[in-house]
Amino acid sequence: MNLEASRFTVVGAGRSGLAAANALARRGADVRLIDGNPQRERPAELSGDVVFQSGTNAPRPGDVAVLSPGIKEVSPVRGEIAAIAGEVIGEVELFYRLCPAPVLAVTGTDGKSTVTTMLGEIVAATGAHTFVGGNLGNPLCDDVDDLTSESVVVAEISAFQLTTNVEFRPRVAVVTNIAEDHIDYHGSFTAYQAAKRRIWERMTHADTLVINGDDPYIGRWTLPPSPALKRFSLERPADASLSGDTLWVGDEPVMHRDQLQLLGRHNIANALAAAQAAVSFGVPRAAVRQGLMGYRPLAHRLATVATIDGTRWINDSKATNTNAASAGLEAVQRPLVLLAGGSDKGADFSALGALIRERTDAAVLFGQTRDQLADAVGPQHPVHLVETLDEAVARARQIATGQGWSVLLSPACASFDQFKSYAHRGDVFEALVRGLQ
Ligand code: ADP
Repeated sequence: MNLEASRFTVVGAGRSGLAAANALARRGADVRLIDGNPQRERPAELSGDVVFQSGTNAPRPGDVAVLSPGIKEVSPVRGEIAAIAGEVIGEVELFYRLCPAPVLAVTGTDGKSTVTTMLGEIVAATGAHTFVGGNLGNPLCDDVDDLTSESVVVAEISAFQLTTNVEFRPRVAVVTNIAEDHIDYHGSFTAYQAAKRRIWERMTHADTLVINGDDPYIGRWTLPPSPALKRFSLERPADASLSGDTLWVGDEPVMHRDQLQLLGRHNIANALAAAQAAVSFGVPRAAVRQGLMGYRPLAHRLATVATIDGTRWINDSKATNTNAASAGLEAVQRPLVLLAGGSDKGADFSALGALIRERTDAAVLFGQTRDQLADAVGPQHPVHLVETLDEAVARARQIATGQGWSVLLSPACASFDQFKSYAHRGDVFEALVRGLQ
């Protein structure tokens, strides 16, 4: 990328904006960081070489605008920026242009972080210098200076980030699954799916796209003639599949399902996706096996917090939509108390309501969406309505009273009504559970 020929305005002083501005400044580029919030102060971590201005979203005319993922796909401000800027890109695109290493990318509605970190562990097991980041929480641009052509980047990419791709070409890309989510950001479910499909826009026949062969939405997509296609499936023969209790990639077994230290069939699908992506990148089977066998659940994703008086308490706070919460419910045996509820994204809870009736002994519902969830579950099932997570934990403690019970926090909703983030919600839950011991 010719940095001298361009001037840059990074729009949005969040983590990825800051990472982009600093990466550009380290390379001597002419860069400004702006933020629409007039209250936003100059971030302490911002390089002294970057001019900062708050209270505006307008780039300098002709600049390359590096957009924050917080700016909605369909919004007046996005249109105004595009009209003034010479080019509009995002932090992932900028990273790609600066990055000397091959990139393996993971997108999809659920399971992105899990598959990204699984793939990262598999690649690391080969001894390669491996960098895992992106939507996971650590912006890619933060570490771009540490990479060489020998490194391998495993990047979690959200649909938000794909809306600003131009040259981005992963060598291998995974689409884990598709469910209705983030409609508020993209404007429609159609637009959300279209954003996901941009992952393969620049991929060639030398690259591989790994997709979920069981996913009904992906099943309806028109797929491109290139890159090479590989499917993973739990249900039927595929390039990567579950046959009996064994995970296979191609005509070689990878491992027995019990060797995976994770709850739920969805995590077998995640492992198949990661294994297929690794094999398509040329990783030897031994490293695939080693990476998957050593893999442990990430925090807030069906992670067991403690077993207290025979009851297992499980933190799945990252289940911020109904698809993820359904996977959580399928993964845990009864007797089970579900804790669910949170901020309202306009989701349809009817299918989840049926699953709650089928898979739980009681549901304790809290937060903004509790009444909607209660309506979806219906009057025939034990439902407890409370205000807060504290009360929900206390109530669950009264219900789950014996050996073999589980209490699962799998909220099916975002957390912003009562918490800063899903991680904050999960941390509060874990502290409450530890307080029971
Ligand atoms: P993402 O990064 O896409 O949000 P995570 O790996 O962080 O995905 O998992 C988010 C939530 O989705 C967790 O509750 C997890 O248990 C659930 N989940 C993980 N993989 C899948 C999957 N393949 N299908 C459905 N839900 C999943």
